[in-house]
Amino acid sequence: MPVILIFVFGLIVGSFLNTCIHRLPRKESLLAPPSYCPRCRHRLYPLDLLPLLGYLFLQGKCRYCREPISWRYPTVELLMGLAAVALYYHREPATLFPALVVTAVALVAACTDLEHGIVPDALVLPTLGAGLLYSFFSPLVSPGSSIAGLLLGGGSLLAIAFLSGGGMGGGDIKLMAALGTWLGWRLLLIVLFLSFLVGGIGGIWLLLLKIKGGRDPIPFAPAIALALFLALVGEDFLMNYYWLMP
Ligand SMILES: [Zn+2]
Repeated sequence: MPVILIFVFGLIVGSFLNTCIHRLPRKESLLAPPSYCPRCRHRLYPLDLLPLLGYLFLQGKCRYCREPISWRYPTVELLMGLAAVALYYHREPATLFPALVVTAVALVAACTDLEHGIVPDALVLPTLGAGLLYSFFSPLVSPGSSIAGLLLGGGSLLAIAFLSGGGMGGGDIKLMAALGTWLGWRLLLIVLFLSFLVGGIGGIWLLLLKIKGGRDPIPFAPAIALALFLALVGEDFLMNYYWLMP
């Protein structure tokens, strides 16, 4: 398949993800009303909603109220477009669909965590249910491995939340459990390990640059999202390295 089609597909998915990022934390329906400007609430039409191009045509301003459009919109679209291309090249065709699903979910979770400090239940609970269901049809992840992934992901972050006295949010725990149902315990183990690595390095960096103070909560979902993407793209490499270790 031409790579440009994969990229455009990712942009369109990214546009839908922006709707999720805006509406899920506000407990709004994804289906109705149709897309609107978050500032003036004017209805948006297909030309306004063209992924990436709409933002460029409108020079980053709403056509109706001229208020600036958040740079998050083109960024999420571009990230999902690029992620779709990367996954297309690095995943076997049979694992491409679940990889795209979890990447999209993690991207939404990262953005809602950054903007609102939450990972909505309306995102993670359906993802968890769908992951368990999908394991009955998946050629790669058995229902047993899916449940083990759920327990491993949810359990390890729950343990950290207990040990650190609330240093890990409930949304992060449910997100990791939901990813486990789609990935199975083996790949989830890599995501867990990488998320601590990314979160640790990111946290130290934020403290050193004084962007965050020692007592500020640091959102963990972005670290999970980046770790997930690295694991999906580098699974073969990481698995080989893992088995080579004594
Ligand atoms: Zn507007």
